[in-house]
Amino acid sequence: MRDPRDELDQRRKVGLHRQLRHFSATSGAQAIRGKDTPLLNFGSNDYLGLSHHLRLIEAAQSASSLHGTGSRSSRLVTGSLDLYTELESRLATFKHAEAALTFSTGYATAVGTLTALLKKGDTVILDKLCHACLIDGARLSGATVRVFPHHSTARLRAILEKTPRSPDSRVIIVAESVYSMDGDFAPLREMVDLKNEFGAWLLVDEAHALGIYGGNGAGRISELGLQNDVELQMGTLGKAAGSAGGYIAASADIIELLINSSRSFIYSTAPPPSQAAASIAALDIIQSAEGDQLRAHLRQLMQAFAPGTSCQIIPHPIGDADSALRASAQLLEQGLFVPAIRYPTVPRQQARLRISLTTAHTLDDIQTLRSALAALPQ
Ligand SMILES: *Cc1c(COP(=O)(O)O)cnc(C)c1O
Repeated sequence: MRDPRDELDQRRKVGLHRQLRHFSATSGAQAIRGKDTPLLNFGSNDYLGLSHHLRLIEAAQSASSLHGTGSRSSRLVTGSLDLYTELESRLATFKHAEAALTFSTGYATAVGTLTALLKKGDTVILDKLCHACLIDGARLSGATVRVFPHHSTARLRAILEKTPRSPDSRVIIVAESVYSMDGDFAPLREMVDLKNEFGAWLLVDEAHALGIYGGNGAGRISELGLQNDVELQMGTLGKAAGSAGGYIAASADIIELLINSSRSFIYSTAPPPSQAAASIAALDIIQSAEGDQLRAHLRQLMQAFAPGTSCQIIPHPIGDADSALRASAQLLEQGLFVPAIRYPTVPRQQARLRISLTTAHTLDDIQTLRSALAALPQ
């Protein structure tokens, strides 16, 4: 039998061994290590600070008091509380879609959706930098998996030209609207044109765009006016929405098909009622004047970091995995938590520090970070 210690040693040798980082508490822009070592946290996806918002906390508490802490069964058995229907109808409206379906996580959403909609003989075409859950869903589906270089619509076109099409097969193009490790934006307009030209569907993962982009925080698809052009609008409620869970917004027929065939939806206990309640409260705030203020503050922080910064996710390129770990450790000594991101999360030799700005940060925090980054060895 293969000894697990060999695999661990191999990872250590190439700087790719991973360890959990333990925090005793987190609040606002701080993460507390051990008894009382506060760190300025630049590793959180809670971009609007909603996970500690009183309205979300109260919504979660009252849902727990009313409905209990667990949902006790799959949605298709007895777990489908009205709270989920309410959340889904709110999401559908927000996304200008006919319907929406929620899952326990974004990961479960991607895997459950791609495996339900695709089978052998179909084709799924992904941007090279798509998130692991999209890759896993594509692979598990049994469809032919094709990959195009990051943002390359020319290569996407070339793949589409060679993809067989028939009335009873499907072709789905997959992209993220904002890439999680690069903080850049997919060329969605061009992708919509291509999928129309070739009769494909488009799945866009808005994990890092919900709450941040678009007039009312509906995301990049909405910002670009493409709500009626994207067949599968996906996202997570665990990042800017400060809660947990994933969603797909789509046509009523697609949603009904997912309810009937998505295995991560069918064979899993419904998420706790508190999760749905907190998510609804988050959608309220995201779409309110308070949401606008939070987004304005976030944009101000982005400009303070570097003029022209257009995304709250900022990669600081390093190169090899060991150097990225050392840089992260050096920042940690100065009280800054900035995670090192390594293969396989990003390509080999493209290790980096990943900075995420949140509304919990102050302009002073941004200056502290800028000075610390400038002092890193080049
Ligand atoms: C975080 C993330 C997910 C997974 O969402 P979870 O709710 O955390 O499971 C999916 N896609 C992208 C692009 C992500 O960054």
